[in-house]
Amino acid sequence: LVSASGLQKSYGALKVLKGIDLTMKPGERLVVIGPSGGGKSTLLRVMMGLETINGGSVTLAGKPYIRAGATPARTVIDIAVRRSIGMVFQHYTLFPHLNVMQNLILAPCKVRGEKKAKASERAAALLSRFGLGEKLAAYPSQLSGGQKQRVAIARALMLDPKLMLFDEVTSALDPELVGEVEQVILQLAKQDMPMMIVTHDMWFAKNIASRVLFCAGGVIVEDGPPEQVLGSPKEERTRDFIDRVF
Ligand code: ATP
Ligand code: MG
Repeated sequence: LVSASGLQKSYGALKVLKGIDLTMKPGERLVVIGPSGGGKSTLLRVMMGLETINGGSVTLAGKPYIRAGATPARTVIDIAVRRSIGMVFQHYTLFPHLNVMQNLILAPCKVRGEKKAKASERAAALLSRFGLGEKLAAYPSQLSGGQKQRVAIARALMLDPKLMLFDEVTSALDPELVGEVEQVILQLAKQDMPMMIVTHDMWFAKNIASRVLFCAGGVIVEDGPPEQVLGSPKEERTRDFIDRVF
């Protein structure tokens, strides 16, 4: 599905990704864990095509997607491919001046030229599936944090992504709102949506992961099934982290 090789990313003199190799198969759900500053968000942003990289390349469905030196999303192929990846961030990125429905149909109508009626129909179905059927006309400021994140996920799904990236989407939420957002992601997992998830929530990691990466100091330290990486890690660095954090 997606394959990264030798990914390197620096901010000035700071090397953040130091050669990441990663191949993801269809239907895989990768959970990325690791210490703060280890490069998890940078890795997801690179995969999303939001960053220039200093080395390596990424292919998506066999097509070249990102390579060193290329400006993000400049070429036609980058743009076409990038739309097949959806990303949701820790902090809500809904358009504040648009209501829920308008947030969902903006990209499909503008980017894909989809008819408003058809996009609205798809949006309504998605929102009711996510328990937001009553909120179509609400503005982001009128929603709870958990509702905003569910809308953000629905909005990303409107472009029919082949891969979803979630960067700590529940970290900014009150504890009682975390579950409703995780349930929505678990629902997507049941439908075999491939995903990469950065999370600090051990319960969620265990329940959603088909594979876990421990990423620290800009490299993948350990990569394996959840039982191994979370349960009995091979690497000492992983073990230290798991003991401290979870
Ligand atoms: P956290 O768990 O705290 O979210 P992370 O693993 O997601 O951490 P990154 O956000 O990828 O870590 O950051 C990795 C390193 O890159 C950090 O040292 C950070 O300060 C640096 N960094 C990230 N974005 C930028 C930027 N736009 N400009 C300069 N440095 C950056
Ligand atoms: Mg981060």
